[in-house]
Amino acid sequence: MKNIAVIGSGTMGNGIAHVFAQCGYKVSLIDISADALNKAVATISKNLDRQVAKGVLKEEDKNNTIKNITTFTKMEEGVKGCELVIEAATENPDIKFKLFRDLDAMCPEGVILASNTSSISLTKIGANTKRSDKVIGMHFMNPVPVMKLVEVIRGYNTSDEVTKTIMELSRNLGKTPVEVNDYPGFVANRILMPMINEAIYTLFEGVGGVEEIDTVMKLGMAHPMGPLQLADFIGLDVCLYIMRVLHDGLGNPKYAPCPLLVNMVTAGDLGVKSGTGFYKYTPGSKDVVLAPRFKK
Ligand code: NAD
Repeated sequence: MKNIAVIGSGTMGNGIAHVFAQCGYKVSLIDISADALNKAVATISKNLDRQVAKGVLKEEDKNNTIKNITTFTKMEEGVKGCELVIEAATENPDIKFKLFRDLDAMCPEGVILASNTSSISLTKIGANTKRSDKVIGMHFMNPVPVMKLVEVIRGYNTSDEVTKTIMELSRNLGKTPVEVNDYPGFVANRILMPMINEAIYTLFEGVGGVEEIDTVMKLGMAHPMGPLQLADFIGLDVCLYIMRVLHDGLGNPKYAPCPLLVNMVTAGDLGVKSGTGFYKYTPGSKDVVLAPRFKK
């Protein structure tokens, strides 16, 4: 494989394009928003500069990486000649299902269609195409250039051959792929989100304050970040959405989202991106301005 397309140039799409381009692949980066594409290229360039400053990348490799990326606002033009398409558009089932129907119609039948979805069923995505054997999850972690894991998710019909190809490709990128099956939350979010939800219940029930809960998990369990701060980073709306996927998909009341999480999202407290979550932030910045919001 030499030519790949990445659809969606937001947080994850620009990271995925960065990693493939740095490994020598020709990348078509596609977004409906020209502004998002400009921002993505600027972000990739800034992140490459950081790698050069750290001495882990040569200046010429930075230039070659940038040269390997071409941007497109028209999907049909961008996917031309690509052997693999990785979709990293907004986490909305209707957007993804339509994208996969369109991709299925415009890509030759051998092309593998992957999705970076955090929570949407690959089996459902595959059912929107006539090639469910070639639809697979490639769940990269944020920030993509730094994080080693790729959760490779097999839909109900994904073939052994396609899974093997994607596992090998992930290794070629210097990542560690882990193969899992398509059930709600896969492995990463099936375990992470209930832990975050339980931390929110612990706060809700007054067992501990924000700092107490995060400190117990950081110092006691060697987590680099407490679960409440991590929830602020991920986005409380995203956490709530994934808890609902687990609750609906598995039908077990243990996955019911904590009422405090529901209230915070309803009130617009979404974490870092809105400026207020379990901590307060300068909107869009990870720097804690006033911590924490809730005291015991
Ligand atoms: P984002 O909001 O930062 O970026 C999404 C981009 O998709 C936007 O630039 C938007 O313009 C574009 N887009 C929307 N509809 C499109 C379409 N029809 N065609 C082309 N482009 C379109 O989102 P993100 O955080 O990068 O998430 C992308 C995917 O990655 C989601 O499926 C999400 O669940 C998954 N994911 C996110 C994270 C994370 O930490 N942010 C981690 C793992 C996986």
